[in-house]
Amino acid sequence: MSIATVNPATGDPVEQFEPHDAAEVERRIAQADAAARALRSTTYGERAAWMRAAADLLEEDLESLARTLTVEMGKPIAQARAEVGKCARNMRFYAENAERFLADEPLEDPGAVGASRAYTRYEPLGVVLAVMPWNYPLWQVIRFAAPALMAGNAGVLKHASNVPQSALYLDTLFERGGFPEGSFRTLLIGSAAVDAVIADPRVKAVTLTGSEPAGRAVAATAGRFVKKAVLELGGSDPFIVMPSADLDAAAATAVRARVANNGQSCIAGKRFLVHADVYDEFARRFAERMSALRVGDPLDETVEVGPLATRSGRDELAELVDDAVSKGARVLAGGRVPDGAGWFYPPTVLAELPDDARLIQEEAFGPVASLYRVADREEAVRIANQTTFGLSSAVWTQDPDEEAWFIRSLDAGAVFVNGMTVSYPELPFGGIKNSGYGRELAAAGIREFANLKTVWRA
Ligand code: NDP
Repeated sequence: MSIATVNPATGDPVEQFEPHDAAEVERRIAQADAAARALRSTTYGERAAWMRAAADLLEEDLESLARTLTVEMGKPIAQARAEVGKCARNMRFYAENAERFLADEPLEDPGAVGASRAYTRYEPLGVVLAVMPWNYPLWQVIRFAAPALMAGNAGVLKHASNVPQSALYLDTLFERGGFPEGSFRTLLIGSAAVDAVIADPRVKAVTLTGSEPAGRAVAATAGRFVKKAVLELGGSDPFIVMPSADLDAAAATAVRARVANNGQSCIAGKRFLVHADVYDEFARRFAERMSALRVGDPLDETVEVGPLATRSGRDELAELVDDAVSKGARVLAGGRVPDGAGWFYPPTVLAELPDDARLIQEEAFGPVASLYRVADREEAVRIANQTTFGLSSAVWTQDPDEEAWFIRSLDAGAVFVNGMTVSYPELPFGGIKNSGYGRELAAAGIREFANLKTVWRA
């Protein structure tokens, strides 16, 4: 796969980049290693000031940066602006809270371990590799980089090959804010070159956000070299609607949960499990709203759904829909690849999926929703939990007992009640099962790439 920007709204090549050769990769890892050493003797206060300055720069660049995101991967321009703003917020969040999250923890009764004093402290690990996807070209990276750098680590980034301009912007952002040279370095390399970076003794850990196969490959290499890995992989999140739900709010939110980012989000609601008592009404309102969405050029301010990021992504999505329809699924909205340039796919609603449809198990990475009619909460949870993924989930109910039961019963890294899954700097984020392991964001996220050192003194 070449490293290039290709505008998904037109299919036109915009700019191609030469991959870094082995000597350039070596130079960049050496820079990051030197920066990691330098960062060890900096204070939280210094790093917080640099992080805040970098957040200010990000906001100054908001308009041009948002345009870059939209041209590289096709998200509607307003959502691109929101992504930039969210990144700045996350950077300030960690500038504010890192020291508290990583504060020493004294043992209250050191005598119990025969010590006069015992405590734990968090220390940086060194250089951490981030392998990142194209769907949120800035946010996925900043979600890792802000806590990692505030903890005193350095980062090297292997970004997805279709978002090189975003990757190169990030290459200089933290230095422009004041961080030592090399604290964050982009490697313009293909996925075949990643194993050698993981194997490098100067690289201490790796985090990957992306597909399950990519996660398996990277974690296997990390395992071979006994290096810590955090994996944030796909999801096929359930969105459950029970009879007591506010149906109109649920239908409106369901649409946003499914089509935000042109449907290419790991935490999108993908399977809509609706109680039989309200199924027909929900299906009608949901399909109506999905059909009414404005699809088109993502730089047009009024457009709600842009193209898929890659041609192969569109082909795979169309194959999943065609497979379900050929086996008997009913199409309530969309369902056909449109004519014309660009990798568009219409907001689509499928119902009555047969058991052998691939969509039952596989993740639909685009604006395609599957509707399921469920008889009761037990059936809802059985279907919700039947995928191999376990990222997040949403449930709509006004009944407190039912709410508590769902929170206990759903196999997922998160449950959102009467809302849709959103990531917040303040809340841990991550999955179970094949959605990966480890957590990002909040205190848990910054502790992933730290050495929890125990200190005991006689
Ligand atoms: P990938 O998982 O292939 O790409 C994500 C990142 O991993 C990219 O930087 C990619 O590099 C890299 N990568 C891929 N394979 C390997 C490997 N064997 N070793 C090391 N690095 C690797 O995502 P795709 O773009 O191919 O999307 C495919 C599917 O992945 C989607 O349909 C969706 O299901 C899922 N996905 C999930 C995301 C999430 O947020 N959880 C985000 C994006 C995709 P390169 O670009 O050079 O191949």
